[in-house]
Amino acid sequence: MKEIFLLKLGEIVLKGANKRQFEDKLRQNIRRRMKAYGNFDVYIMQSTVYVEPMDDEADIEGAWEACRCIFGLVSLCRCRPCQKDIDSIFDAVEAYLGDDLDCAESFKVESKRSDKAFPMTSIAISQEIGGRLAEAHPNCLVDVHNPAYTVYVEVRDLAAYVHGPAVPGAGGLPTGVGGRAMCLLSGGIDSPVAAYMIAKRGVEIECVHFFSYPYTSELAKNKVLELARLVTKYCGRMTVNIVSFTQIQEAIRDNCPEEYFTLIMRRFMMEISQRIAKDDGCKALITGENLGQVASQTMEAMAVTGAVVDVPIFMPLVGMDKEEIISIARKIGTMETAILPYEDCCTVFTPKHPKTKPTLGQVTHAERKLDREVLIQEALSGVEKVTVKYDDEAFL
Ligand code: ATP
Ligand code: MG
Repeated sequence: MKEIFLLKLGEIVLKGANKRQFEDKLRQNIRRRMKAYGNFDVYIMQSTVYVEPMDDEADIEGAWEACRCIFGLVSLCRCRPCQKDIDSIFDAVEAYLGDDLDCAESFKVESKRSDKAFPMTSIAISQEIGGRLAEAHPNCLVDVHNPAYTVYVEVRDLAAYVHGPAVPGAGGLPTGVGGRAMCLLSGGIDSPVAAYMIAKRGVEIECVHFFSYPYTSELAKNKVLELARLVTKYCGRMTVNIVSFTQIQEAIRDNCPEEYFTLIMRRFMMEISQRIAKDDGCKALITGENLGQVASQTMEAMAVTGAVVDVPIFMPLVGMDKEEIISIARKIGTMETAILPYEDCCTVFTPKHPKTKPTLGQVTHAERKLDREVLIQEALSGVEKVTVKYDDEAFL
């Protein structure tokens, strides 16, 4: 008999009146994600998502890996459905989990009966199945307190389901329930993690990347597209807006005092990002900024860069240590690409002694010779929009 997935809803169950809307979104997201792996039926009952392959061609392993990255789910298990009678349940456990039990030192059975019409209580189910399994697997001892392996039996409306231990889901809220935000994506470790963190809260992500050809190479740009592609494993397809920043950086170099280079450059980035964001329906900006990490990440510097925008700026990494950020980058699979040694436009024309405690007055004075609006319009007129999705070929 076939295998299906039971996916347990996360925080959605707390959403009260909005629960229905959240569930609809989640089901839609899972359906879309499953398409690449064949013909699957996806439905939600009793706070559980059922993902069921409809034929033998379905790529179960691929679908399972994809489900592990979908936001809105706390835990996932692969299970075998069977008829709702105790003999069928036992046969299903034996056929599906018998090998696992042979390898374990001890076990217990945990049952849940949401179909109250089923004639046995949960405890009676566990005792009966446990007893029969103990006989069939004499080397695997029953241990209800600290078992090496747990067999789960769920008697639900449509069928009974048997499975081994669940694995953690991606957590968070279903993509799309929290609106849309624009992430400033560099080629570094931090910004892909920042995009992931906000995506996890149900937000659709779009990205903007500034590059300074010929100061930064084509490879550096592809690195950023590759980082975006890796993040789409979690957040679904996204658009990356590629903005040429060369002219602006040269104008800053030629017209502004060196100690303000980075700050002025970052103010342009923010303002251009906000304009693209507004055009595309994004209601917030996301950056990978982290308090105290570099000169432009002091409170004073953040105030000066944030002053050019009026949408919220989300900085999900602001209070984390580098080690914490790196461990998330490793978990989501962006670390290896992020540390490839291609330059970022932030490292072009870096001042020797950057201003760490600027005031807004000092910065606006330092940029007075620039025609901001003309430079911004010029950059906006050349934006290249690239759609990125996980099943694209790698960019590097
Ligand atoms: P990251 O690891 O994300 O590059 P960082 O620690 O190197 O961050 P900065 O270089 O000061 O820090 O950049 C801070 C934030 O500004 C980045 O996290 C990113 O959100 C944004 N940013 C920097 N450079 C670019 C760029 N070339 N294009 C788009 N956004 C950028
Ligand atoms: Mg950087």
